[in-house]
Order: sequence, then C-alpha cells, then structure tokens
Amino acid sequence: MPGVEWAAMQPTWLDGASKDLHWLGALRCLPVRERLYRHGISPTPLCPIGCGGEETVEHTLWSCPVVARFWRRVSEWWSAEEGAGIDRDLVLYGRGLKRMGPETANPLWQAVSVAKCVLWGARCECIRSQTPRVRQVDLFHVFRARLGKGLLSCQTKTSGQSNTVTFIYSFMSEKWLY
Ligand SMILES: [Zn+2]
Repeated sequence: MPGVEWAAMQPTWLDGASKDLHWLGALRCLPVRERLYRHGISPTPLCPIGCGGEETVEHTLWSCPVVARFWRRVSEWWSAEEGAGIDRDLVLYGRGLKRMGPETANPLWQAVSVAKCVLWGARCECIRSQTPRVRQVDLFHVFRARLGKGLLSCQTKTSGQSNTVTFIYSFMSEKWLY
C-alpha cells in the first residue's frame, strides 16, 4: 500500500486497539459491509449508520456524512488550538506525521487514534443495537472523555510538552459542538 507511514502510525506508546484499527484500515481489511457483502456474509453493503451510502473503509473512517461532520469539528478545533490540520491522508494513512516533531505529532496522532476508535465503536454499536443512528453529541462526549486519558498517557510516555490536556475542555463548548 503506497504512501502509508506504517511506523509513524504505530508508535510504541499507542494502545493496541488503535494500532489494530490503523493497521486494518490502511490495509482496507476492516470488516465493513461492502467487503462482507462481496463475500456473501452481509445481506447489505450499506452503511450501518443509515446514511444510505455504501460502507467502504474510507466511508466508515472518513467520508460518511456523519463521520465527515465529526472530523470537520475535530479538525477546526485542533487546528485552532494546535496549528496542525487533520485531513484524509493523515487519518487513513498517517501521512505527514514523519514531517512533524514529536511535540506536534504525538498529541495529534493520539487525538486521531481516539477519534477513529470512537467512530468505529459507534458504527459497531449501530449494528449491535440495530439502530441506524449516531448523534454528534454522543460522539463528542465519548471522544472528549477518552482523549483526556489518552493524551495524559501519550505525554507521560513521551517527552512532548504540550498543553493539550488543559484545552481539551474547550472542546465541548457550544462553539465546537454546533
Ligand atoms: Zn455512512
């Protein structure tokens, strides 16, 4: 898979679930419905969130309208606070991480990792509960709670001196949520 920054996607401090998700996503091996449908395992290729689109790996992690809206908010917030943008190639392939210093790359990649796990979890919950609906506010609540923990662990395990932890609380303000 050309253009994937494999090593940068798998830093030693990152949790196993995030590493697996990055790996399977970049290889396009996640068990998304389009893939399962092709193998005769799922009765439908459509996105379980209910947007009406076909659920490919890129759809579920980046371009589903619900997911895209979430990324827009996260990216606006992150670039305003930290100066680094979040785009498709970064999210799916870790592209750009190698160019950044660890003070920028580590908290950014931690945030992207948490967001991807939250999105994948929400999509799986839609299937489990057979409820094709994801509320932005629920995504944000889970994201903020997990990001606080994740950033603390990423910072204690690296020498990055970011003030990210102090401003995650700004993330739930109305400005970013609506
Ligand atoms: Zn969708």
